[in-house]
Amino acid sequence: MTELQTVDLPTTIPKHKKSLLSEVAARTAGKSNIEMCIQCGTCGGSCPSAADMDHTPRAIFALLKAGVRDEALRSNTPWMCVSCYYCTVRCPQDIHITDVMYTLKNIAVEEKIYTDSTAPDFSKTFINMVENYGRSFEVGLAGIHNLKHFIGRLPGMTPMVIGMLTKKGMPITPPKRIKGMAQLKKILKRAKELEAV
Ligand code: SF4
Ligand code: SF4
Repeated sequence: MTELQTVDLPTTIPKHKKSLLSEVAARTAGKSNIEMCIQCGTCGGSCPSAADMDHTPRAIFALLKAGVRDEALRSNTPWMCVSCYYCTVRCPQDIHITDVMYTLKNIAVEEKIYTDSTAPDFSKTFINMVENYGRSFEVGLAGIHNLKHFIGRLPGMTPMVIGMLTKKGMPITPPKRIKGMAQLKKILKRAKELEAV
C-alpha cells in the first residue's frame, strides 16, 4: 500500500472502541508516544515492507486513534514488519512504532483475530528455536514453515538450497546452543510470568 491510499474511517466512533489507543499504549513497553502521531507518513515512506502491508504504519496509527479495532488488529502490517526500526528512528514524534507492532501482534494472537494464520505460527516456530538453541536458525525456520504451510513451494526452493550448500552462504545444519542457555531460559521464564500478570 502506498502513502497515497487512504483509510475509510467511520464518521462516528462507538464509545466502547475509543479505548484502543490507550490499551495499545499501556501494553507497549516504555513510553510509546502513540497519541503524538501527526500523520506525516515518514514511517510508511521509510518502511522496506510497506509494499506488502495492507496498511502503512501511518494508516495503522489512524485506525488506532479512531478505535477501529477489528481492521487494525486484522491487518497484516505488524506481521510484515521486519523489525528494522527504521521508522522508529525517523519518526519526528519519537513514536516507538516497531514496539507498537509487537503489541498489535500480541493482541491479535490473544484474540485470534488475524487474517493470515501462518504468520503467528511462523513466530511460534521462531520462538521454539530461540528457546532450544538461544538463537535463530534461518534455514530450519524456512524449512519447517514451508513444510507445514506451503509444501508446494519446496521444489522451487531447491536452487537456493543448492546455492547455500555450494557457497556456504548460510549454515544448513542446526546451530550450536549458546553458552548461556540456562540463563536465557530463566529470563524467558520470567518474561512469560510477567506477561501473564
Ligand atoms: S512517522 Fe511518526 S508521526 Fe509520522 S505518521 Fe509515522 S508514526 Fe505518525
Ligand atoms: S520497523 Fe517494521 S514498520 Fe518500521 S520500517 Fe521497519 S519493517 Fe517497517
